[in-house]
Amino acid sequence: MSDLPASIHIQPIGRVYSPYRQKFAIPRQPGLVSQVEGVIELLGEFANGDLVRDLEEFSHLWVIFLFHATAADGWTPLIRPPRLGGKIKKGVLATRSTHRPNPLGLSVVRLLRVEQQAGKVRLVIAGHDLLDGTPVVDIKPYLPYADAHADARGGFADDRPTTDIAIRFHPDAERELLRLAPRYPLLRALISDILSQDPRPAYKKSRPLPQRYGMALYDRNIRWLLDELGMEVTAVERLNEQLLQAAADD
Ligand code: SAH
Repeated sequence: MSDLPASIHIQPIGRVYSPYRQKFAIPRQPGLVSQVEGVIELLGEFANGDLVRDLEEFSHLWVIFLFHATAADGWTPLIRPPRLGGKIKKGVLATRSTHRPNPLGLSVVRLLRVEQQAGKVRLVIAGHDLLDGTPVVDIKPYLPYADAHADARGGFADDRPTTDIAIRFHPDAERELLRLAPRYPLLRALISDILSQDPRPAYKKSRPLPQRYGMALYDRNIRWLLDELGMEVTAVERLNEQLLQAAADD
C-alpha cells in the first residue's frame, strides 16, 4: 500500500492558440522553428492579470501542458524516437515522447509580451511546439542561472537535428503565399523551417518517391512533395475544417 494518492486532480489554467492545427509537422522540440507566434490565453478564474504580474521581466517560460491529442492512446514503457530512425527503442522516461504514464508536456518558449484586454489575459509566445487547443496546466519563468547548463549531456539527442534537403516553392504556391502575406507574413518562412526539419515520420521515409504530404497551418492546407530534387511546396489552399475535425476525432 502506498501512502500517496492514487490520482491527482489538475485543472487547465490556459489554452494554446497556435498555427499548428494537427500533430503532423509540428517541430519535435520548441525553439526549432522560432518565427512562429502563439498565444496562451488564461481561462476562467485564472484570467486575472495578477497571476502574470511582472512575468514580462522574463524572456522565456516553462510551459507544462497536457498532450490532449494523444492522451487517450495511453503509454508504453519503450519508445522508438524518430531521430533514431524509428528502429531503436529507448525507455519512455529517457525520451520526450507524448506516450508517457502521465501525458504531460514541458516546453521552453520565448515570451514576447503579455496582453490584457477586455477581461482577457494573453501571453504571446514564440518558438513553441504546441498544438492549437493544447490545455496548459502550469507556467513558470525560465531561470537561466538554475535551468541553463552549459555542460549538460544530451544523450541520443545531443545536437540539433539537421537535414540538407533542398526546399523549393512551385510558382502557384509562391503566388498564393504572396496573396496571403498581409495576413500571414511569416507563413513562407514557417513552411521552410518546418520542411527543413523533415517532419516525415520515420516509417514513411523508406517509401518510394515521389511522396506527397499535406500539413495544416493556420486555416491553410499546405501540400508538398518529396522527389529526387528535394521538397517542393506545390499548393497552399484553404483548410477543410470538417476534415481536420474528423481526423482529430479518429
Ligand atoms: N517539448 C515537449 C513536447 C515534445 S514532443 C516535451 O518535451 O514535453 C513534441 C511533439 O508533441 C510535437 O511533435 C507535437 O506533435 C506533439 N504535441 C504538441 N502539442 C500536443 C498536444 N496538445 N497533444 C499531443 N501532442 C502534442
